[in-house]
Amino acid sequence: MIVVKFGGTSVGDADAIKRSAEIVRGRLDRSPIVVVSALGGATNALLAVGEQSAKGHLIGALRGVETLRDRHLTECDNLLGKTAEADEIAGELSAMFDELAHLAEALSTLGHVTPRSLDAMASYGEQLSSSLVTAYFKRCGIDAEYVDARDVMVTDNRFMEAEPQTETISVNAREIIYPIVQSGRIPVMGGFIGSTTSGITTTLGRGGSDYSASLVGAALNAEAIEIWTDVDGMLTADPRVVKGAQLIEQIRFDEASELASFGAKVLHPNTIAPAVRLGIPVFIYNSRRPEGKGTRITFDAPHRPVSAIAGKTDVTILKVTAARMLLAHGFLRRVFEIFERNQTSVDVVATSEVSVSVTIDDATRLDALLVDLRALGDVSVERNRGIIAIVGAGICDAGGAMGRALMALGEVKIYMMSLSATGINLTVIVNQDTVVPAIKRLHEEFFGGGS
Ligand code: ADP
Ligand code: ASP
Ligand code: MG
Repeated sequence: MIVVKFGGTSVGDADAIKRSAEIVRGRLDRSPIVVVSALGGATNALLAVGEQSAKGHLIGALRGVETLRDRHLTECDNLLGKTAEADEIAGELSAMFDELAHLAEALSTLGHVTPRSLDAMASYGEQLSSSLVTAYFKRCGIDAEYVDARDVMVTDNRFMEAEPQTETISVNAREIIYPIVQSGRIPVMGGFIGSTTSGITTTLGRGGSDYSASLVGAALNAEAIEIWTDVDGMLTADPRVVKGAQLIEQIRFDEASELASFGAKVLHPNTIAPAVRLGIPVFIYNSRRPEGKGTRITFDAPHRPVSAIAGKTDVTILKVTAARMLLAHGFLRRVFEIFERNQTSVDVVATSEVSVSVTIDDATRLDALLVDLRALGDVSVERNRGIIAIVGAGICDAGGAMGRALMALGEVKIYMMSLSATGINLTVIVNQDTVVPAIKRLHEEFFGGGS
């Protein structure tokens, strides 16, 4: 049994869905379970509909719904042609757009939107794509069966970033998905979406379909989890930033996990953990070039000084300075309790004799954090910073990779620096404007090949 996940571009239009069907057909002997994202761009469009409705721009919102309806129905037509069965599927998809339009109207009457209603809105992307993909698979002779992801992926109620309940998911996957596989059919489900125990729709956070795939893979102890996307695999840097980024054929779980957490969007940061628990290899392939080697993520991979470089912007640094208290017993615990209480996760930490600096990605609770932190000492805030992660199992080796990295950064001003406890990730915090040039310099230093 393997899990095969197709991202937004891999199901973005009829041609992409046809390519994905051929990839699945080539794997029928391995009992694939298929997880699909929404059609590329659909989630953004749905969230925009939600925001517009809440602002009272109902006409614009409904126009957004109709644009999405046209797109889905056109692709449905391209895939299924004009038959009675195709009409039935088109009718089902259209009914979902009617529901969306009603939701938009309700939000515009209310005049505000909550994370819960945004999840309801966004979830249509995967409901639509999984219905369409199932219908096409059946049409082209793949014995597919639609699974409503919300019956399997039970989560807590932290809307837009819901925490999956892995035990329940395992039970559900065994009850709902496994019998389909056992009977020789191909389950097809949407990624990203789930529901609370009381049946309210949730999502796992942006890019969460990768996470859904690995949760299902772990729940059923699959042999492999395949992530099909629009690049050849995990590369030495984001190819949008570094043109000469190179394919990494094998990478360690922990390296891939650090890269995903620090901006390598090719993988949702939570994807690795469920796979690691059971040692299930994760593969990344390009659905436009299925013959490519792809990337294999496992425990054993070559030990390199640097495997890849990732980066992200929009990072905030908070510095707490408390001359006498810092080294006092319990001070750091109090600092971190404040972040926990305000449900804000910390990415990078550095301490000195008198201060502790942390970076956060999500500054939505900044005001509350500041009120609490000021009770502990002086607090300063630096916005518009970026993080660069230089990841490699051998970054700390005697070979001098760390020195080379810092030399390569040259004039780039560094505000904070930290080495992960595992010694595989050197993170430097810079001005967000210098993230791209810094990544290019580092890439040139370690991989050459033109940046
Ligand atoms: P999908 O819709 O298939 O999930 P995503 O857009 O989420 O695809 O992720 C693929 C994108 O990740 C690529 O197009 C690429 O620009 C970006 N990316 C960022 N860092 C890397 C990296 N190190 N290796 C490969 N791709 C990366
Ligand atoms: N469709 C969702 C998103 O765009 C989930 C995913 O593609 O992984 O975030
Ligand atoms: Mg993705």
